[in-house]
Amino acid sequence: MQRLALFDLDNTLIDLDAAFLLWAEEFAEEHRLSRKAVDYLVKLDRNGLPHRELFFAKVRERFKLSASAVDLWAAYRRRMPHLVECRPEVIAALAELRAFGWRVGIVTNGTADNQLGKIQRTGLADAVDGYALSGVEGIRKPDVGLFEIAARRCGADIAGGGWMVGDHPIADIGGGQAAGLRTVWINRGTWTGHEHSSDHVVTDVAYAMDILHAALD
Ligand SMILES: [Mg+2]
Repeated sequence: MQRLALFDLDNTLIDLDAAFLLWAEEFAEEHRLSRKAVDYLVKLDRNGLPHRELFFAKVRERFKLSASAVDLWAAYRRRMPHLVECRPEVIAALAELRAFGWRVGIVTNGTADNQLGKIQRTGLADAVDGYALSGVEGIRKPDVGLFEIAARRCGADIAGGGWMVGDHPIADIGGGQAAGLRTVWINRGTWTGHEHSSDHVVTDVAYAMDILHAALD
């Protein structure tokens, strides 16, 4: 199997939940909302309103904000790239994989400005061989097409196989498998009881790197 490793971005290479909490605290302060509002925003985010347009429509209504949902969402996308971080050990682990001949890429769903901003500001743009963003390509994981594009950007052909690492059982694991890749699921405890059929399960992306190295032995 070729040495191709594709990674999800949010809550895989970067801790989006931690950045979201920072954003929620700033948002509450800016709009003079209570501490309870922060809890509400986090809960709304975790409880499955991933589509930000709907999320901000609901937030606007709840807190009687004058700005439109579209404007609130745009401000969120401008701010988030400044709040996310990629841990230095993760950047180093990507460099180590590449030193061992792996081609490394990112496959992510989301708007082009937000995802690209996060990839660039965290230094990940320089730490990988290529990336494919749904907001740019017009197709989303689990569509195999996005994995194919990511592989190509890394100078590889998805037909040669490889690995997909991510935290979403359907988008990352289901999609990766449909693309013919072996999979490592990052279990963050948010999908308890959900069926998965990944080849490996870990709690942090750093352990996924270990699995990739071991897979070569
Ligand atoms: Mg994710």
